[in-house]
Amino acid sequence: MHTATAAGGAKDSRTHVVVLGGGFAGLGACRTLDDPRVRVTLVDQQNHHLFQPLLYQVATAGLSGTDIAQPLRHIFSGRESVTTLMDEVKRVDLEARRVELAHGTTLTYDYLVVALGARTGYFGHDEWKRHAPGLKTLAEATHLRREFLIAFEKAETAIDPLESDRLLSFVVVGGGPTGVETAGALAELAKRVLTDDFRRIDPTRARVHLIEAAPKLLTMFSEEQSDYTRRRLEQMGVKVHLDCPVSEVGEGYVVAGGKRFESAVTIWAAGVEGSPVTRTMAGAPLDRGGRVKVAPDLSLPGRREVFAAGDIVLLEDAKGVRVPGVAPAATQMGKHAGAQIVADLDGRDRESFVYRDKGSMATIGRTKAVAKVFGMRWTGLPAWLLWMSVHLVFLMGMRNRLRVFLSWIWAYFRWQRGARIIVDTRAPVPDELVKR
Ligand SMILES: Cc1cc2nc3c(=O)[nH]c(=O)nc-3n(C[C@H](O)[C@H](O)[C@H](O)COP(=O)(O)OP(=O)(O)OC[C@H]3O[C@@H](n4cnc5c(N)ncnc54)[C@H](O)[C@@H]3O)c2cc1C
Repeated sequence: MHTATAAGGAKDSRTHVVVLGGGFAGLGACRTLDDPRVRVTLVDQQNHHLFQPLLYQVATAGLSGTDIAQPLRHIFSGRESVTTLMDEVKRVDLEARRVELAHGTTLTYDYLVVALGARTGYFGHDEWKRHAPGLKTLAEATHLRREFLIAFEKAETAIDPLESDRLLSFVVVGGGPTGVETAGALAELAKRVLTDDFRRIDPTRARVHLIEAAPKLLTMFSEEQSDYTRRRLEQMGVKVHLDCPVSEVGEGYVVAGGKRFESAVTIWAAGVEGSPVTRTMAGAPLDRGGRVKVAPDLSLPGRREVFAAGDIVLLEDAKGVRVPGVAPAATQMGKHAGAQIVADLDGRDRESFVYRDKGSMATIGRTKAVAKVFGMRWTGLPAWLLWMSVHLVFLMGMRNRLRVFLSWIWAYFRWQRGARIIVDTRAPVPDELVKR
């Protein structure tokens, strides 16, 4: 095993593991690699770990970005063996065991864990992206929040009532958990939270369209739970359109199921694809979306020193279960990859990955949710309480948990959302303050 050069240039005899991505999978791997024989270099283009399951609440003004993110540097501040680099991964050379970063650094490794997650996929129509942003990063969530809030402000000042109507039309594409949660939260924002705040418009007139190509919402849930979700959303004022594939997205409109929907803000929650970095990994088996096909132990076939984990992976586990793109699966895969590296160092055999499915849940709105946990199905208030508890437990950082808990309690009793400040990001600071 060769000795890699440490980030500071000194020689280090410990096994060097490079972990790409500080999401659920990357953190799972780093935590399992807490071993005196190992040093880790963690690379992420953001300086924080993001709790994506609550991103929709940032987009709809329920929470602030800082409530659901944690600086990676802080997470590992007590672990001398972990070096964190904020940089973008550009290329992985599997043959030379090298990772190239955007700012010019090249890292060599003994082991590599690729955990770069997925990005929003537009089914081959990348030109739709500028009209319909996805919801994957804090930047996207805060951009969407700004767009939603600005739409209400512009409607209040619009002279033409038709223009005001258009400004209060929103389209969410995709009837999975993200689409359902966003549409529900947006309807509550318009129809409960903002009701007394405007004088010239009636925010309850806002139209929220949820468009889904499949015949049901939340395909991973039972027919009954999916039906419950549709009925509850409709009661909240969301217009649900099923069997309605999108054929065109443009500035201010979406065409789906042969019908044109006006839209002041469109949000795309319909598809994911692998990170573009996987296409630089010559010889790695990929599916059409760029996700990596891995061996049962999560290593790349023929490359025992390279693992992939999380949303970037396409895998049926040792029991033949298709591993879903959810946070617990990513964490489990990251931990498994780390554990296989430790097994190698101990001289033990590697093990196949087995996914432990603890269930799925999605919230629709206040006191409304669906959950499928350990084979039991829940709907309504019990599912909602379960959803809140699970998200609080898995959210990282005690301060974040407390802040989110208090925001939820406040929102429950007062129908208020605290994160409604619009920051003008077009002209943020004077030119002379911008470092180039
Ligand atoms: C809006 C939304 C809601 C969701 N809701 C739920 C839910 O309720 N329950 C659930 O279980 N799952 C949910 N998920 C899915 C869950 O968040 C993912 O399955 C999980 O985040 C996957 O973890 P990961 O580590 O594979 O990827 P990620 O968490 O996406 O982490 C990937 C990391 O890689 C970094 N990265 C990517 N490309 C580069 C690059 N080129 N260079 C450097 N760094 C890079 C990113 O910055 C990121 O930090 C949701 C996802 C979204 C987007």
